[in-house]
Amino acid sequence: MKVDDVISYHELVAAEKANLQKGMNFGIGKSHSVVLMSVRQGAPYADAINPKTGMLTYEGHDVNRTKECPDPKLVDQPLATPRGSWTENGKFFRAAMDYKGGLRKKPELVKVYEKIARGIWCYKGFFELEDAAIVPDGNRKVFKFYLKPVEKKPIGRIVELPHNRLIPTYVKVEVWKRDGGKCVVCESTTNLHYDHEIPFSRGGSSLTSENVRLLCAKHNLSKSDKIMILIPWLLPAISSLNSHGRN
Ligand SMILES: [Zn+2]
Repeated sequence: MKVDDVISYHELVAAEKANLQKGMNFGIGKSHSVVLMSVRQGAPYADAINPKTGMLTYEGHDVNRTKECPDPKLVDQPLATPRGSWTENGKFFRAAMDYKGGLRKKPELVKVYEKIARGIWCYKGFFELEDAAIVPDGNRKVFKFYLKPVEKKPIGRIVELPHNRLIPTYVKVEVWKRDGGKCVVCESTTNLHYDHEIPFSRGGSSLTSENVRLLCAKHNLSKSDKIMILIPWLLPAISSLNSHGRN
């Protein structure tokens, strides 16, 4: 899967080979965790991406709604369960503190998926869990997790990602509506990807919907083939473009 691929919830579950109902899933992959985020109106948690730095601030999760606790939004987000085991908040928090305190060398690697519309998700790539905090939020305390966008290279090498490559959510939502959830070439509704019309590596912007469109896998691929044929002397640039996930 490439960054900015559009997938259904079922594809998301198939890709991670797990039921991700919880939203926060510590250590669910061989070497990574998975979180689901949303900055849509009415989203249950206050997730946010800083447009300047690309840093993700991810809010922890509430206690479950029960008879004894009819309104989880009035209760501190829990670090541990009543039985004393870590909640997902606790697992992510401990990983962040261990990294900050030098108890672990590498930060926890986290795959992030973002909700774009009902049943429609977008893969946002890998982030590193750098820090966490417990902060007051009105009458209660919530967890905040701070994650930095990174790129996972072959052989597992992690490099910093140029943050302005990330397409902001408002652009994605706008493009999704404008293109009607279909490939702009063939109207396919499967294997869709957010494509930069002018690639980011050649100066195209992520920040305006005019330079972003929906393409199916086939047309996304044929676009890069075309570039290969037209400008062979740009091969070095193209190969770096491809290694960036054909942005
Ligand atoms: Zn197409």
